[in-house]
Amino acid sequence: MRLTFTHSPLDHSGLDRARPDWIAARLADPAARCVILNNGDPVAGADGGPLILHPAETDGLGLAWPGPVFLGVADGVPWFAAAPQDGQKGVDFRRVTMACEPALAAILGRARAVLMWLGRRRFCSNCGARNEPRDGGLRLQCPSCGMEHYPRTDASVIMLPVCGERAVLGRQAAWPPGMYATLAGFMEPGETIEEACAREVREETGLDVLSARYIASQPWPFPSSLMIGLIAEVAPGEPLARDDLEDARWFTRDAAQALYETMARWAPPHYSVSRLLLQAWLDGAP
Ligand SMILES: [Zn+2]
Repeated sequence: MRLTFTHSPLDHSGLDRARPDWIAARLADPAARCVILNNGDPVAGADGGPLILHPAETDGLGLAWPGPVFLGVADGVPWFAAAPQDGQKGVDFRRVTMACEPALAAILGRARAVLMWLGRRRFCSNCGARNEPRDGGLRLQCPSCGMEHYPRTDASVIMLPVCGERAVLGRQAAWPPGMYATLAGFMEPGETIEEACAREVREETGLDVLSARYIASQPWPFPSSLMIGLIAEVAPGEPLARDDLEDARWFTRDAAQALYETMARWAPPHYSVSRLLLQAWLDGAP
């Protein structure tokens, strides 16, 4: 299964993008493309799909600081992203990226993560001076104290606890009726991935993790997470619903299969690593 937001076609051009003349030449390239996101939601074009302009065509939109931000180059096409200061509202990011082709979804995911970071980093978090963009907007430099600021990625563990022929799924009160999913939480400083997995399972269900196996990861631009997907073998016991969970319970393979099929109501199977973990277990992963 090829997860949404993975397999991005973008070459991030990490060495070239440090040269302002190289970025200027990419902006002037007739093939260049720029997606427009307002508060993280793609602005729609005339055809209803995401609006994609040449960077020069964005002048009239009244762009928010710092203007078009370099995302990378895909098949010779330089891609940029920009946010309007106000103006046309975007279409719900999930709805757009569930429907558009995978390469564009990955580009929009990177655009959203970078633009939302920039929107919160206009000023240096160390001294309060106004940051200056570098590397096409993918790095910020404070002219006062010299601190460099980079887009953040918030690592999170997401896991399916299993014991024999059963798996634990939980639900939050705000979710649609009947919806259950894998457990998840942010990693904390000083933790390994396995330790974060064990802590989150213990916090949310009271169950003890015996071992955890990495399955897959997924960039998750809400706004800037990286979901690290695991299947965790847990000791027998009854799960408690704690922390942000309203309920947590054991599912047999048959019950989990039935739930998996009803999940199509909420999102396509490739949209989240949560579904991939469940699929991997249903397919016989230990
Ligand atoms: Zn500073």
